[in-house]
Amino acid sequence: MHVYTAPVVVPLAGDPIREGAVGVDGGRIAYVGPADGAPEADETTAFTGVMTPGLVNAHTHLCYTAFADMYGNEKEFFEWIQEFARRNPETADEAWKASVQEGIDESLRNGVTAVADIVTPAAGFAPLLASDLAGVAYWEACFIDDAAWEVRRSAWREVVTDTRAVNNSDVAVGISPHTLYTLGTNVAKGLAELARTLDIRLHPHLAETMHEDMFVRRGSGPFAFMNRRAGLDLELADGGAGHSPAAQMDKVGWLGPDSHVAHGVHLDKTDRELLRAKGTAVAVCARSNARLEAGEPPVAALRAEGNTVAVGTDSRASAPDLDVAAEWPVLRRLALAQGDGGEGLNEWLVRAATEGGAKALGRDDIGVLKEGARADLAVFDVDTDGDPYAALVTGAAGNCTATVLKGRLTER
Ligand SMILES: [Zn+2]
Repeated sequence: MHVYTAPVVVPLAGDPIREGAVGVDGGRIAYVGPADGAPEADETTAFTGVMTPGLVNAHTHLCYTAFADMYGNEKEFFEWIQEFARRNPETADEAWKASVQEGIDESLRNGVTAVADIVTPAAGFAPLLASDLAGVAYWEACFIDDAAWEVRRSAWREVVTDTRAVNNSDVAVGISPHTLYTLGTNVAKGLAELARTLDIRLHPHLAETMHEDMFVRRGSGPFAFMNRRAGLDLELADGGAGHSPAAQMDKVGWLGPDSHVAHGVHLDKTDRELLRAKGTAVAVCARSNARLEAGEPPVAALRAEGNTVAVGTDSRASAPDLDVAAEWPVLRRLALAQGDGGEGLNEWLVRAATEGGAKALGRDDIGVLKEGARADLAVFDVDTDGDPYAALVTGAAGNCTATVLKGRLTER
């Protein structure tokens, strides 16, 4: 038994504990409570600051960590997204692996111990599945129309089945149908069917930009141009679906408790209700949305109406870092500006980045400190005197001082 103590422990399974302790045995939590009641330890580590469960980054693309220059290149969304099509084919497998590893290391430095990671090059799986992180690695399908799918389907599916066959990590393999504007309708339906057949999770991007909304509703706008230029023949480009992206996602089978969506910026009341009815969580990525001028996620409405919300940074190509805690103050500002009264908001934000992320990934043993959960801890050098949720939301960004992954203190 290794016991980790801190002046404040925020278990989320219960109220914050002053002079708290977490006992760890075999990578799992065996005790959460006051330090003076902790079981006898073989080893004790006393932290200063506030201890929380390891944070969950509910939407990222670790393979793009090496594309961090794109965050500052000031290209607008339409040009920015097309840059991947140019850069990806020029990137060698070893470079992809190094980029993912860099992303894993940065995550751990920031107290992030679980990820919903989108995998674009197949080489990107290896570092994740070799890591001790928890989460899901979603194999991405992007820029595939129905005709191309006929040719590529079996090879695409094989990546999923082959990767699963060799995977013995705590990162499951899932499927990411990229968006409604980069996949044919039959591809979209086929991916949902495949996920259900294999009993694995889905994670698409939903309602990130107004251009997506234009494309799905009416088949028009910049994405219609982009697809035409790329020679993609998408059914929606021919007049659109006549309803919202969320409604279209439901139609092609991408929503459900086995799925969570990224962004959810342009969701109206009906869309938010649909997501709740389907049990689908939303991973908000406010700093990425700001960089790409995509809009602001409706944080206040999602909270008031009771949607399950998780927090993502998105990739380094659209976010300044992979620090989930740095999303907190931004989300707080947005919520207050959108009319949230602020009561309980800090606690809600901390829960979104822990419990919410766990729900988004279909896990009940991460994002919480309780007996039997994975022993993933994060420690932040923030004020320990007042309300710990407020201290975390206002001060945790850039201030992670220790990360414990599956019971082991990671090197810093
Ligand atoms: Zn994304």
